[in-house]
Amino acid sequence: MDLGLKDKVAVVTGGSVGIGLGVAQTFAREGAHVLIAARDGSRAEEAAQAIAREFGTRAVAQACDVATAEGCDALIEAAKREFGGCDILVNNAGTGSNETILKAPDEKWQAYWDLHVMAAVRLARGLVPLMAPRGGGAILNNASICATQPLWYEPIYNVTKAALLMLSKTMSTEFIPMNIRVNTVNPGLILTPDWVKTAKQLTENGDWEAYLQGVANEHAPTSARHGGGTADFMVSSARRARPMPSAGPTSTTAGC
Ligand code: NDP
Repeated sequence: MDLGLKDKVAVVTGGSVGIGLGVAQTFAREGAHVLIAARDGSRAEEAAQAIAREFGTRAVAQACDVATAEGCDALIEAAKREFGGCDILVNNAGTGSNETILKAPDEKWQAYWDLHVMAAVRLARGLVPLMAPRGGGAILNNASICATQPLWYEPIYNVTKAALLMLSKTMSTEFIPMNIRVNTVNPGLILTPDWVKTAKQLTENGDWEAYLQGVANEHAPTSARHGGGTADFMVSSARRARPMPSAGPTSTTAGC
């Protein structure tokens, strides 16, 4: 099926691994060029080179922290420098959290706000003016099922993802006159390296695969019934083995 993406330029934050990498690969498979952003520049570079090799499109990596204004500026500049703009922006970079409302400090709330909300604001401010003269485009915000249904142990994640959902709706009304669509995806359980890391932490490098399977069996009965179980799973089993709250969005605790 031709999705009409040939030679479009897609900027994907968090495109070096997990869901973002899958998204970037899928764009490239459709003939789009991709600019992937992540803090770990060498992992992003490896991912970009692999995409270019496999799909024959241009794939460029930008090392940057999109939770900062400087990081967003670097990505916007890269889109201008490498591609003369872009047609698609996928705000995917994000991570789970682990805290209580009563104990989490303001700094942690602010850090997740910067990562899950302000990155989308800042990148839109820089990239929408580049999309509009190309005839418009699309922005896709990767929120979470937690944007509408909270998990008890990650209030900051729930709230900032819900804010991203509302930001998307609000952006969509502002940007549609420029022919730019804005949508949100609220994924459920996707097995990514973040989850594997979390499972290893929770089991202290014990039987982490069994842990993940148990989560899938408990919370994604479809996967268990069909003998799958690694494709979608739920995290709330962490209630039984709760990791220590972390200081900021460098947490390795996967969110849903
Ligand atoms: P991963 O941890 O596997 O990947 C996260 C990606 O984001 C990496 O490329 C990481 O690279 C990048 N990243 C993280 N922080 C920053 C930052 N500050 N600046 C730039 N890049 C950053 O996550 P997933 O693929 O599991 O999740 C991707 C998104 O999907 C997240 O927003 C998550 O909340 C959401 N989601 C995931 C679900 C799941 O079950 N996996 C379910 C629902 C939503 P680096 O570390 O090098 O910066």
